Amino acid sequence: MICLNCKQTFEGDYCPHCGQQAQTKRLHFIEMINNFVGSFVGGDNKFLCTCRDLILRPGHMVRQYLLGQRIGYYNPLQLFVFALTAYAILSYVLGVSNSIFDEMTVLDFETETEPSKYASLDYILHNITKLSSNKLYGAIVLALFASVAYRQVFRKCKLTRCDGRQLALNLTEQFYAQMYHSCIGLFLSVVMLPLCLIPGLDDVLTIVYQIIDVAYIIVLYRQLLGIKWWKSIVLNLIGLFLAMLLFLVVLMLITVPAGVVEGIQSRG
Ligand SMILES: [Zn+2]
Repeated sequence: MICLNCKQTFEGDYCPHCGQQAQTKRLHFIEMINNFVGSFVGGDNKFLCTCRDLILRPGHMVRQYLLGQRIGYYNPLQLFVFALTAYAILSYVLGVSNSIFDEMTVLDFETETEPSKYASLDYILHNITKLSSNKLYGAIVLALFASVAYRQVFRKCKLTRCDGRQLALNLTEQFYAQMYHSCIGLFLSVVMLPLCLIPGLDDVLTIVYQIIDVAYIIVLYRQLLGIKWWKSIVLNLIGLFLAMLLFLVVLMLITVPAGVVEGIQSRG
């Protein structure tokens, strides 16, 4: 067999040099449909498997991925882009406002007329809410802060690889776990999006979303690290609190000097 991609001779179903399938068919209509569907569903149901396992047994799936079973699952960043696209398209089709582009500016400098308010807790909380409700960079920024906090909080919980090595999750592995969690949040948003059409349900939906979201991260870390329920609940709450605190500090480092500069300019 000669690989049509890298021209090496080989035996078997896949080229050992570049990984291309041995049977590379010519492009026909059916093949086009196959390729298109396959890019989502995958010949080995990669996409469906990732979604199913992430929703039904999130922590087990993330553990398998982090411990090296990479072929069967999409990485969280690919999945995130896919879920974000689905969310954007669905919200556009339904005519529901979405918080990908609506909340494009990170900080609301223009909403405050009184410069001293830039240092106030109200203003900072307003910006936290605004940022955390953004589906695109809000999720990524929060996942970043959460990874730093979780790295510390969960440093004593270790994973055992099949070769017996014990690993505490590093920053990037924590970030991957957090991004998988963000994907679950996005899937949840997609499912809940049609409900946004019902008037007066916004507050209830927000609360339901928050509860499911927090429940998922508790389940995820319990399964991922094989720890007890109470431990997962306590450590997750500490982790989330620390992440928020870290976020608050960084945000103040940005907004307070900016507010001071703005104040000086408006006086001048
Ligand atoms: Zn090849």
